[in-house]
Amino acid sequence: MQKPQLAGKTALITGSTSGIGLGIARALAAEGADIIFNGFGDPTDIADLQRETGLQFGVKTGYSNADMSKPAEIERMMSDALDQFGGVDILVNNAGIQHVASIEDFPPERWDAVIAINLSSAFHATRLALPAMKKNNWGRIINIASAHGLVASAGKSAYVAAKHGIVGLTKVTALENAQTGVTCNAICPGWVLTPLVQKQVDARAAAGNMPVEQAKRELLLEKQPSGEFVTPEQLGALAVFLCSDAASQVRGVAWNMDGGWVAQ
Ligand code: NAD
Repeated sequence: MQKPQLAGKTALITGSTSGIGLGIARALAAEGADIIFNGFGDPTDIADLQRETGLQFGVKTGYSNADMSKPAEIERMMSDALDQFGGVDILVNNAGIQHVASIEDFPPERWDAVIAINLSSAFHATRLALPAMKKNNWGRIINIASAHGLVASAGKSAYVAAKHGIVGLTKVTALENAQTGVTCNAICPGWVLTPLVQKQVDARAAAGNMPVEQAKRELLLEKQPSGEFVTPEQLGALAVFLCSDAASQVRGVAWNMDGGWVAQ
């Protein structure tokens, strides 16, 4: 039997207790990568997730409860990864939150939180992961941006600023490491039906006094020409490709998987 392509690699995926991060973690585990989970949730559920992933894919799993809004906790997460797994070969900067309000009504502390979690955490995790990746002359950094890293929507100032920022950070990371085996790319999903988006669907249903299914359809059709959600599994498959040898010259791209959103 052929060895899984990521056997022997360790992948740390921030915000992987739910949604897209979890889909990517499972896809990387299916290719043989050991997985370090991160994110919030019930400790029993997280322990189950670790155990089930380990058993299903025959990989080692770990977990860090680091809060991505706190640089000191990111430092602790990265040094624990070094102690327990010998370092991080694949870093997926995925943790993210949303807040929707017009600029004049946007609470400054929510702005700070969105920028810290959706943008600055990727800078900190990247700066701490790079030395070992460069030493090994192999590394993959995948930043989960968004269609909102390429185009804007009203009401999402902090999110759009953070996501445009992470696309910029992706390009700089790719360029600074262009002559090494370390690549950095961004994935820009359109709507994916995760808890983050379910909140927006529910808010829309409440505001329009309409059934949740109608709110879902309207939300999709406003932006996403396919009228269908992107899935965490599809995003996981793209992340696996970006980790493959075939992608070793894919550097600094912001790759949209968005049902046609940014083609308009
Ligand atoms: P989600 O709410 O399902 O998952 C977010 C994850 O981040 C969870 O594991 C949560 O515990 C974790 N998290 C939140 N705050 C954290 C913090 N301070 N420290 C550590 N972990 C934290 O959301 P999702 O939709 O899966 O989003 C994941 C990423 O994908 C985000 O960066 C989001 O902006 C991006 N994205 C989502 C969509 C979408 O339609 N769902 C589209 C484009 C981009």
